[in-house]
Amino acid sequence: MKIIVINCGSSSIKYQLFDMEGPVIMAKGVVEKIGLNGSFIKHERDGQKVTLEGEIIDHQAGIEYMLGLLVSKEHGCIRDFSEINAVGHRVVHGGEKFKSSVLITDEVVNGIEACIQLAPLHNPPNLSGIYAMKSLLPDVPQVGTFDTAFHQSMPDRAFMYAIPYSLYKKYAIRRYGFHGTSHRYVSERACEILGKQRTGKIITCHLGNGASVAAIVNGKSVDTSMGLTPVEGLVMGTRCGDLDPGIMTYVMEREDINRTGINSLVNKHSGLLGISGVSSDMRELEEAAANGNERAQLALDMFHYRVRKYIGAYAAAMGGVDTVVFTGGIGENSDTSRYEIAKELDFIGLSFDKQKNAGVRGQEKIISTDASRVTAIIIPTNEELMIARDTAAIVG
Ligand code: AMP
Repeated sequence: MKIIVINCGSSSIKYQLFDMEGPVIMAKGVVEKIGLNGSFIKHERDGQKVTLEGEIIDHQAGIEYMLGLLVSKEHGCIRDFSEINAVGHRVVHGGEKFKSSVLITDEVVNGIEACIQLAPLHNPPNLSGIYAMKSLLPDVPQVGTFDTAFHQSMPDRAFMYAIPYSLYKKYAIRRYGFHGTSHRYVSERACEILGKQRTGKIITCHLGNGASVAAIVNGKSVDTSMGLTPVEGLVMGTRCGDLDPGIMTYVMEREDINRTGINSLVNKHSGLLGISGVSSDMRELEEAAANGNERAQLALDMFHYRVRKYIGAYAAAMGGVDTVVFTGGIGENSDTSRYEIAKELDFIGLSFDKQKNAGVRGQEKIISTDASRVTAIIIPTNEELMIARDTAAIVG
């Protein structure tokens, strides 16, 4: 079975074509700068990479271009489109309606459209990808996998905000959580590797430019750090994470900024970038801190401290923890970050192994001591594979 996985952002489309027999990736790539000057597609097949420029005015044009490459003599890997058995789409927000991946029908499209108000920047491009695929490959079944779905198992005491209940009823204001496909993939993979079935209590730390922590009991998410939007929780590249809501109105008054301004402040100018004034990128911050930049060091300290606090909180929330997973660009690659986060967690039974951790990048590896009661493990995430598997299971 061959499945194409699509992730449509506002000006980009990431894609991977899987042959589920392996599973192996037959081709992958990204269409960038859609609707902008200088749009191009980066395409990879059998380790051969090409970058092709073209005028790509919208998502439909981008997907058409990408499909053309997949069947082309020079860069392709399939004879014709009849070889594609299904399409899997990443969809950011599924609200309370979608608790798992689903076959996309007209009713499902309506449901995703209804969630636009909860994710105005993300759901519209996701839908553009769905509309485009529907028109280009009308007979191929499509599946939607939602970032929020995995966290739909949270109990109300974890997902409710302590604001008037009527606001939940009226506007569905509650914590939804994101990165669900990643948290699900790495927690399931941890169970496979560690042989603990799904009975363990797992804390998954997805640490990338966007970052979140999830508490998982028996394979089900019971709490997560992101909320109604992806701004809540950890200190991120440019997002502030947890904040006293009083700060918003205080800053709006003092700085004379409006709704758009405050939104941009907490989403784009805060986090690691806002504190350091140097960069939102962990590698650049580590370098600046090593060269004595104190604000870069402060940003790192705040980032690590916040993750550690969440691990402690979730251990308390679950009444213990068996496994702590690190994933995402920072979790997979930064040995310094992993060490700074986990070095003082002996009190919850996690004895961190500095040697095992040193220099590990992008590979599955246990980084707690052999005697540690809690296992710390690095697991590179693979959201695309998870989407492909869900798609195969649904259409198969
Ligand atoms: P993601 O959003 O998951 O792609 O993660 C991006 C983040 O991972 C950025 O802050 C990068 O600086 C960070 N990252 C990637 N590679 C490394 C590395 N080798 N060491 C430290 N941070 C890294």
